[in-house]
Amino acid sequence: MAKYQVPKDGAKIGYQNGKLNVPDNPIIPFFPGDGTGPDLWRATKIVLDAAVEKAYKGKKKIAWMEVFAGLTALQNYDKDTVLPDETVAAFKEFRVGLKGPLTTPAGSFKFVCLVCAAELMDRPAKCPKCSSEWITPRFRSVNVGLRQKLDLYACVRPVRWYKGVPCPVKSPEKLDIVIFRENTEDIYAGIEFEQGTKECQEVYDFITKKMGKKIPFPDSGIGIKPISKTGSQRLIRMAIKYAIAHKKPSVTMVHKGNIQKFTEGAFRDWGYEVAKAEFRDAIVTEAELWDNLNGKMPAGKILLKDRIADQTFQQLLLRPDEYSVIATPNLNGDYLSDAAVAQVGGLGIGPGANIGDGVAIFEATHGTAPKYTNKDQVNPGSLILSGVMMLEHMGWQEAADLVVRGLEATIAAKTVTYDFERQMEGAKKLKCSEFGQAIVKNMGGVAVAA
Ligand code: NAP
Repeated sequence: MAKYQVPKDGAKIGYQNGKLNVPDNPIIPFFPGDGTGPDLWRATKIVLDAAVEKAYKGKKKIAWMEVFAGLTALQNYDKDTVLPDETVAAFKEFRVGLKGPLTTPAGSFKFVCLVCAAELMDRPAKCPKCSSEWITPRFRSVNVGLRQKLDLYACVRPVRWYKGVPCPVKSPEKLDIVIFRENTEDIYAGIEFEQGTKECQEVYDFITKKMGKKIPFPDSGIGIKPISKTGSQRLIRMAIKYAIAHKKPSVTMVHKGNIQKFTEGAFRDWGYEVAKAEFRDAIVTEAELWDNLNGKMPAGKILLKDRIADQTFQQLLLRPDEYSVIATPNLNGDYLSDAAVAQVGGLGIGPGANIGDGVAIFEATHGTAPKYTNKDQVNPGSLILSGVMMLEHMGWQEAADLVVRGLEATIAAKTVTYDFERQMEGAKKLKCSEFGQAIVKNMGGVAVAA
């Protein structure tokens, strides 16, 4: 018997021939997450429910189903379980989900408190920082675990500016991109050997003696970065399909192929290969543009180009409007996503999704911001906009548009959470929950209880 309760008034989302079949009362699994997650979740639920209610006048309604992960998993399952199998299974079965941030231990300590994220070398009965009893041994990232177990191979992050959001650049409106970052390979494969261990020595000997490669110092830790044709092509395929569906002008493959030819460079080559094989009528490559078309893009076609990762950072700052959809391996995408979202106002407003074939989980891109736990203070914009992506993914565009309208009006009225207020002249500071309510009011809706 599962610990989560399937809502009786909901129905399952189906999936056939690569398409979702969304009923009017879809069951959506969610978990609020650790730290500030519950505050963010309450504000987000109010906004999404109100938008759906207003857009469809009661004909459609989300049947939310809470599943457990992180702290709530510790509280509901056997000791030390942070990602129960049935949570993974629920996301798989119900196909579309929403999640809050989760504590992810880092470094060499042995235990972590899931309430305040304190990192500990031993396991006291109560946390010395917050007195909670929810201390568990260090574990691998639940976020990464979910992505891998469900094969959510694309981390998708739209990055655009919302009028009025304080940001460090002069023309933030010029950046409007969607980043497709590979989610299962490259450094996320997690293949590492610790310096000084027998395994590391064996790998070192294999590489230096058997493969004849030079590693500068024998006291190296060693990481392995696999990038496959299958993994690259399915990601780039998804990015091109997105560009076609959303009438985007270009897809740029961002790589470091000048240095790593057989991983990063191959990513690019496999991208051109899959584009020509499967989307020949929809795309024009940059080489074709200049060699055959005199630099004139035919109407309705998508320009497929590639750029070296380091220069992409300056391009996004200096010529952001030349970029639209970006497809890139894991590590490049990690850096690029956060840098791009900083350009338009920071993590408080950056939504994200992890998407595979037939399963998708939408999530805020920031972490648990533990110092603000239960203070009703943080900006729920990122989780709310992740909800917008979720509504769009379900084909509920009208509700998605309402949320964006409410959010834009709320920011334009200079009624914002602390993170924006401290950078905006004359702004009024709202709590996390008040910000959610203001969005509902500004979309012309009525708040539905959290
Ligand atoms: P973080 O939680 O993202 O917080 C870093 C800082 O970013 C905060 O102190 C705050 O800045 C700002 N911030 C984050 N969320 C915000 C929001 N909603 N509204 C306004 N400002 C916000 O990063 P962290 O402190 O490095 O990580 C904390 C925990 O979260 C760690 O265990 C980490 O591993 C985990 N994490 C989880 C995810 C995920 O679940 N997807 C992602 C990243 C990190 P100010 O202090 O300047 O106000």
